[in-house]
Amino acid sequence: MIQKTFTVGPLQCNCTILACEKTLEAVIIDPGDEPQKIIQHLSQMGVTVKYLLHTHAHFDHIGGTKDVKAHTSAAVCLHPGDQSIYEMLPVQGKMFGMEFEPAPPIEKFLQDEERLRFGEHEIQVIYTPGHSPGGVCFKLTSGEETLFSGDSLFEGSIGRTDLWGGNFDQLITSIKKRLLVLNDDICVFPGHGPSTLIGKEKRTNPFLS
Ligand SMILES: [Zn+2]
Ligand SMILES: [Zn+2]
Repeated sequence: MIQKTFTVGPLQCNCTILACEKTLEAVIIDPGDEPQKIIQHLSQMGVTVKYLLHTHAHFDHIGGTKDVKAHTSAAVCLHPGDQSIYEMLPVQGKMFGMEFEPAPPIEKFLQDEERLRFGEHEIQVIYTPGHSPGGVCFKLTSGEETLFSGDSLFEGSIGRTDLWGGNFDQLITSIKKRLLVLNDDICVFPGHGPSTLIGKEKRTNPFLS
């Protein structure tokens, strides 16, 4: 497995490219901004992107989708619970003083527990609503298990729930029932900030004690 994680945009969203080392087929998680930077990484890696995966539809996670999509023709994937937020990208931008063109059409609606193959690897959808109605995490199930937690779970914190359709109790339930049940040694890459471990968050995250 080849993994490249880097920040994009003013809110420093963590964008990840995962690629099968044998077939060079890849997925991108949260192409949130700076599409040129993402496209540059893709050509350096020499990979072909199959899916554009989004943990949720806040602008800092979908802002680069349109241009990356145009460059790669990968399928745009989102949980249906976030479709309405996705379709209001220009409105979201306005509220935060940024300008966005409408996001491209969603081509694949993600379902809880669905597995997506790329090359010889597989990534699984874990539905974790609360930060947004259609929020999901992605768990790499082949090789070393890794979790991409979007804005649901951060190192020492959790996502805000005061934006469109956010719900604090739902988020806490999602994290406890769907994420903290995973193996303690699974590495977690959140939507923002440093990586962590499930076990560490279970023991020390003040929102989850
Ligand atoms: Zn968010
Ligand atoms: Zn975010």
